[in-house]
Parts: sequence; structure tokens; C-alpha cells
Amino acid sequence: MKNWKTLENEKDESRLLAGLIDEADAIVVGIGAGMSAADGFTYTGDRFKRNFPDFIEKYKWFDMLQASLFDFPTLQEYWAFQSRFVELNYLDQPAGEGYITLRKMIEDKNYHVITTNADNAFYAADYDMDKVFYYQGEYILWQCASFCHQQTYRHDEKIREMVSVQKDMEIPPELIPRCPECDAPMELNKRTAEKGMVEDDAFEADRRRYESFLEENRSGKVLYLEIGVGYTTPQFIKQPFWRMTRRNEEAVYVPMNQKTYRIPEAVRPQTVALTGDIRENILNAGRALTHGG
Ligand SMILES: [Zn+2]
Repeated sequence: MKNWKTLENEKDESRLLAGLIDEADAIVVGIGAGMSAADGFTYTGDRFKRNFPDFIEKYKWFDMLQASLFDFPTLQEYWAFQSRFVELNYLDQPAGEGYITLRKMIEDKNYHVITTNADNAFYAADYDMDKVFYYQGEYILWQCASFCHQQTYRHDEKIREMVSVQKDMEIPPELIPRCPECDAPMELNKRTAEKGMVEDDAFEADRRRYESFLEENRSGKVLYLEIGVGYTTPQFIKQPFWRMTRRNEEAVYVPMNQKTYRIPEAVRPQTVALTGDIRENILNAGRALTHGG
């Protein structure tokens, strides 16, 4: 961790975060589910119970993650659940204060974001979407369940209609969306271990922009800032961040998470783990930056 003045004398987590953002030549931000949860978009508890009491009674689900991965017996039921899920976590999702504050802290810097979230948080908080790479798809997009062609589709009004006309956890059969090419059912654009994900031209363009940014910022004071990334899919954010940090002796790796995850020994000397409350740390760092530290 060469040349970072902030690291020499700052101990407070939020001021440390503010200082590192201020000082960095480049910032690569990796965002996982913990960031949305910190802003109140939780998949458990009240928010889940309020929106899906009928499904919970029927299937005894623990949380929305389990629910969203559920193997529904029929497409009518699949879309009854998914339409409500998408309305809640995309169409009607409000802007989160943590997301807004983070945007304000980085928007005048040289930065790029990668996320494994699929919700609407970045759009709602008014990010420059050319600088955000949604790696795992977006809830609002559809793909052909047979993967017959690489194109995604978006029909907000159909989602609204499925929500409003469903009865007893089923949409009418005529509302089941079909692939315009092969007539197979459509499904949400989501990566799974078995099938992968439909990646269309827009996705490829996003990928190229992200990769070019990484390529252009391989040296200098690069801050790899990882917020609320768990351990379900470490190959998308965590492990690449570790590799890139190791390749650049000036880089700093900053995971923000209340849980501490095992960090490889080789990366530890360049790691500053922030284990305080994610939202508090971001909001306080935002204040520290606007008030000049
Ligand atoms: Zn198809």
C-alpha cells in the first residue's frame, strides 16, 4: 500500500473511506446484495412478509432469495410471483440514500462499477449507467427460456398487468410471455450455474466498457472498493479484485462488510477491511467529503 497518505494516520472507518476515495487515481466499485440490504431493500423480514403472505403460507419460504430461486410447478404461478417480485425490487424501488451518497462521492472521480445485483438501485439513484456493469442480468429483462437467441426484452406494462389481474397466485394462461422467435416461454434474465444467461449486444457493450476501464487503470493508486459482496459467487467480484490488487503494488483492496470473510494471505498486506455498518460508513464518509474532511 505505497503512497497513500490517508492510511498513515486515519483510523476512523468512514473518514478512512472518504480519504481513500479522495486520494485514488481510479476506483473500481464492486457491489453485492449487502449494499441494497443496507439501504432497506432487504429480502427478509417485514418487507418479504408484507408482499408475499400467500406464497409464504403455501411454501413456507424463509426469504425472497429462496423464493426467487424456487422451482414453480406452473408458469402461471412463476409469473404471478415474479411479476410482484419485479414490481417490488425494480419498477417501484425508490432511490436509496446509501446509493445516492456513494454516487456523489465518486461521480467526479475516475471510476467504474460492477454489480451482481439485478435490482433498480443504480437507476433510481441516478447513476451514469455507462459506468455500471450489471453482471448478473436485471430483473426487468426477459430472455427466451430455451436460449434460442441472444436478445433480452423489456415490457413494464405486462409486468404491471400480471400483478393486477393475478388471482390465487396465478396469472391467466394467455398472459404467459412467449419467445417471439421460437415460442418457448420467456423467463427473467438471470444467470444460473446450469444455463448461464442470455447476454445481448447491450450486455457485451457494458462488459467491454468495464474491461477497458480495468485495462486502462492497472497501475497507480487504484482503490478496489467492494461493498456488501458475500461469498455465493466470489468469481465475479471478489477473486478478480484480489488478483488485480496483487498485480499492482499501489492498489488497495477495501471490502465493506459486517461479516469478515477469509482473505488470501497474499492480498492481506494491501487490504483495509471496513467491518462497521455499511450505510453508516457511507453516509458519514459522504459528510466528511463534503465538509472537506
Ligand atoms: Zn426462443
